Amino acid sequence: MAGKFGTSNVEIQKNVSLASFNTLRLTVQAERFAVAKSLADVAQAAGMVAREGIALQVLGAGSNVVLRNDLPGLTLRMSIHGRSCINGLLTASAGEYWDPLVDYAIDQGGFGLENLSMIPGTVGAAPVQNIGAYGTQLSDRFAHLTAFDRRTDQFVELNRAACGFGYRDSIFKSSARGRYIICEVSLFVDAKFLPNLAYPGVAAWAGAHPDARAVRAAVMALRSARLPDLGLTPNVGSFFKNPIIGKQSTQALLAANPDLVSWEAEGGYKVSAGWLIERAGCKGMAVGGAMVSEQHALVLVNRGNARPADIEALSQQVQRRVQDAFGLTLEIEPDCFPES
Ligand SMILES: Cc1cc2nc3c(=O)[nH]c(=O)nc-3n(C[C@H](O)[C@H](O)[C@H](O)COP(=O)(O)OP(=O)(O)OC[C@H]3O[C@@H](n4cnc5c(N)ncnc54)[C@H](O)[C@@H]3O)c2cc1C
Repeated sequence: MAGKFGTSNVEIQKNVSLASFNTLRLTVQAERFAVAKSLADVAQAAGMVAREGIALQVLGAGSNVVLRNDLPGLTLRMSIHGRSCINGLLTASAGEYWDPLVDYAIDQGGFGLENLSMIPGTVGAAPVQNIGAYGTQLSDRFAHLTAFDRRTDQFVELNRAACGFGYRDSIFKSSARGRYIICEVSLFVDAKFLPNLAYPGVAAWAGAHPDARAVRAAVMALRSARLPDLGLTPNVGSFFKNPIIGKQSTQALLAANPDLVSWEAEGGYKVSAGWLIERAGCKGMAVGGAMVSEQHALVLVNRGNARPADIEALSQQVQRRVQDAFGLTLEIEPDCFPES
């Protein structure tokens, strides 16, 4: 169909299982499902959603969503492809996978993303939670993005300030939740490689004077050792955010727990959620097919046939135990669909 943003052939399917479209492998159905392969598809799908007044869920690789129930309305999977690296600006379409983009950037002589190697998911989702790892976050490199604005029915460009990035946060998770469909992201990359060895494990693995490939290999090795293998054990990575608390609360916790893992960040002190969960005795805890990973307490895994209700009950049990043991509230990191 021809629209003001070009011709779209977007096909709407009904009652589609999302089991293979989320990395927790939860079996829920999308009432309607479409794959956007172009800007015209995005505009077309958004127009239909607006006309019919139905819900819209945008999906990348499904590595940061918890599907709690069947999804009403339209679930739109982003599959727009294309990438370039010109004069220090790396640009990629929303459907490109993140990790191959890091690899591509290094190949093109564009540096600065190595510490974000091996993060699953798509480029379009990366700004949503301002992906970060090993001392680097997307916002450090962010130039601008192009998105479809569902409020004005236009494609718009948003710069770094407009995205309101924070720790695993942005306007796309809060004030502008659901408003934008991100279609393309541009990042600044350096022509000269300067390793970020702030995270001690990276330096220990990569050596004192590594090149970009060595840092990428170090990050990949560290991640493989720490996290359950996504191919074998369905999960969404960190299930909870590290709580940020004040100095006095941290000192009180440290007095009672000298081995507490905490560090100064974001105007306060971050406390390791993994440490809290492990010390609250939750490692290995299970509800139905859902389990707190034995390998990394911050990760909830689907050990086979987990139902959304199992994940929800287990996450609530973990939150309750941590609250009872330390008086801290754990906030869930992935997005939960459908919204309650
Ligand atoms: C094993 C594992 C390790 C991980 N490690 C890290 C890590 O180190 N650091 C980190 O930050 N994250 C990590 N994550 C989380 C996840 O990889 C990132 O959040 C990633 O950016 C999600 O991408 P996705 O395409 O899978 O997004 P999805 O899960 O599909 O979507 C996530 C959110 O983004 C929205 N969204 C997706 N695409 C778009 C778009 N084009 N426009 C608008 N909204 C969109 C969705 O609606 C949803 O709200 C990890 C996950 C796993 C499974």
